[in-house]
Amino acid sequence: VNKIRYKTKIAVIGAGQAGLSAAYHLKKLGMAVGSDFIILDEAPSAGGAWQFRWPSLTLSTVNRIHDLPGMSFEETLNGTDTEVQASTAVPRYFEQYEKKFGLQVYRPTKVEQVYLHQDRFYIDTTNASFSALGMINATGTWNTPHIPYYPGSERFRGEQLHTKDFKTADYFKNKHVIVVGAGISAIQLLDQISKVTSTTWVTRREPVFNHGPFDDMAGHLAVSMVEERVRAGLAPLSVVSVTGLPYSPEVRDMESRGVLQRFPMFSEITEHAVKWEDGHEQPADIILWNTGFRSTLTHLDAVLPREEAGGIRMAGRLATMVEKEPRIHLVGYGPSASTIGANRAGAAAARELRQTLGLA
Ligand code: FAD
Repeated sequence: VNKIRYKTKIAVIGAGQAGLSAAYHLKKLGMAVGSDFIILDEAPSAGGAWQFRWPSLTLSTVNRIHDLPGMSFEETLNGTDTEVQASTAVPRYFEQYEKKFGLQVYRPTKVEQVYLHQDRFYIDTTNASFSALGMINATGTWNTPHIPYYPGSERFRGEQLHTKDFKTADYFKNKHVIVVGAGISAIQLLDQISKVTSTTWVTRREPVFNHGPFDDMAGHLAVSMVEERVRAGLAPLSVVSVTGLPYSPEVRDMESRGVLQRFPMFSEITEHAVKWEDGHEQPADIILWNTGFRSTLTHLDAVLPREEAGGIRMAGRLATMVEKEPRIHLVGYGPSASTIGANRAGAAAARELRQTLGLA
């Protein structure tokens, strides 16, 4: 109630790859940081979700981190050491980036709720209140882990963790771990955990390994499939779910260690086990759900028009514009949920939103 209200033209919510890219382009188009537009982020420091990634995720185990516009990532690395942790290298890069381009981020500032009154969006945050004519939302997915419900889940006496909770494999020592999921995170964590303890790998669908080199063609195809979905107002699928899993040296090693034996999804969780329809049970201490993330959007519930199917119909050159509310752009959403996609989306959103608001 006693919060101060600041007025601005555009609010960028989230300062990960997507938010910083959008901010860079707004500034390049002549807008002043802190007055014409503001950048808000909930996290304590620079780096977007990268600051929270697990320690064993190094620059050699990530897929690829694309440069932000105007400054190369490599410039900020000490030499070419690929074993450096992504959770330190990427935040350091983002921090230097913010400094170099004068992109001052209000942090930690969590946007709690946005509502529309007359022609302005009112943005309530944990420490101040803002109003803006338009918004570029770039809040990513990290804060919205997804765990599907299975009957009996609440009875389980062991621990249920999500990818997001993973720190080191040592934590799992002497426990039997059910690793759920067929994405890149599932494979990487299964690899690490199966080296220190016993595991059971469970996936909903038969995992598809991509034996060919992962080329740009496959990436483009995946992105355009996701783009088609969001333009039709459907919920996005992750880009990786379309490209298949790379058949990496780690995968070959797991095959030879016998840990890649895959089981279909169980149908029930009991106090100490998971159980399949045929009555077969596997006792378990930990269930590790690598079942993905959803877009973090609940703070926009009051202003984001949803389709009947629950999705958001997207428009604009790179499908960043909310069709029924073009004063809101979503970047890092759907087809732009990768570092390269987020980059391009930032540029398109900055340009289109300024046009919509009559600022261009
Ligand atoms: P984020 O980096 O998640 O940034 C969102 C920001 O929004 C955060 O700083 C957060 O604090 C802030 N925020 C959220 N909610 C609020 C709120 N309510 N109020 C204020 N601020 C808020 N992609 C690749 O291209 N290459 C890779 O190698 C790769 N590896 C990955 C590895 C893992 C383990 C995971 C989970 C993802 C990986 N990705 C990779 C996908 C990656 O997440 C995206 O490519 C990209 O980094 C996401 O950027 P973003 O800006 O959309 O989101």
